[in-house]
Amino acid sequence: LPHLTLSISMTFFGAGNRLIFVRNISKIRHLEKIRQDFIGNMSHELRTPLTVIKGYLEVISTHIEGENSRWERPLLQMQEQAERMEHLITDLMWLSRLESVPQEDSNTPVAVAAISREMAEEASVHRAGQGKIFEVNVDDSISLIGEFKEVRSALNNLVVNACKYTDDDGVIRIDWRLNDAGGAIFSVSDNGFGIAEEHLSRLTERFYRVDTSRSIATGGTGLGLAIVKHVLMRHGAELQVCSEEGVGSTFSCIFPANRVSRQ
Ligand code: ADP
Repeated sequence: LPHLTLSISMTFFGAGNRLIFVRNISKIRHLEKIRQDFIGNMSHELRTPLTVIKGYLEVISTHIEGENSRWERPLLQMQEQAERMEHLITDLMWLSRLESVPQEDSNTPVAVAAISREMAEEASVHRAGQGKIFEVNVDDSISLIGEFKEVRSALNNLVVNACKYTDDDGVIRIDWRLNDAGGAIFSVSDNGFGIAEEHLSRLTERFYRVDTSRSIATGGTGLGLAIVKHVLMRHGAELQVCSEEGVGSTFSCIFPANRVSRQ
């Protein structure tokens, strides 16, 4: 039966007794696939009209002068919102790809140390990162066996978040090192706003935000940590979050030993 997917679990009870549960989850899988396809197609379809709208807004903005200058502000807002929508579509398409396309067998070592320096440099010139201090403590002798684009997008989301949710004079620290289990840890720590405990378990849900207005004001799409979660799952890694409101946060990606290569 090619389309039958079964979920099998076992529970022990009493002395040596066990109960085996077999569930047919084919329908759930099928519905999940329809949902993923729908999101993928819809984001793709939205992109074309948005490109046209952005193009015309650009043209109109070059003709705003004299009597028309009262339109300057509304036009700027329309451009900002179109930009936001574009980010949202890009993130939705990327997330839907991560959810639905199986990972190619990638044996390329990804230079996380070099990427970390690059990200810190980029972030420090970006608006949200300006004025912040970046401390980068990375081990160049360790590389990650993985898919470059995926790894970069996940790590970058964590750095960008640290910038967005930290005051202008904040300190952001990036670490990349081996752990005791022979695996490696990438972590981003900030001394920013922090997150109350009740939110921690829901952070990687799509569109879950602790403070919606702050997230939207900083250009967030609400999909960053969902992307991180999926990239890590595809690399056999896990995400750990330690945070205290008003003190700061540390987001750590823990990669297993078979994903680490040493020079
Ligand atoms: P967003 O685009 O809203 O930043 P994310 O999925 O990246 O979406 O993050 C989800 C929520 O987690 C954010 O809206 C924010 O409330 C919280 N968050 C993420 N990173 C941090 C951080 N470093 N410090 C404080 N809050 C954070």
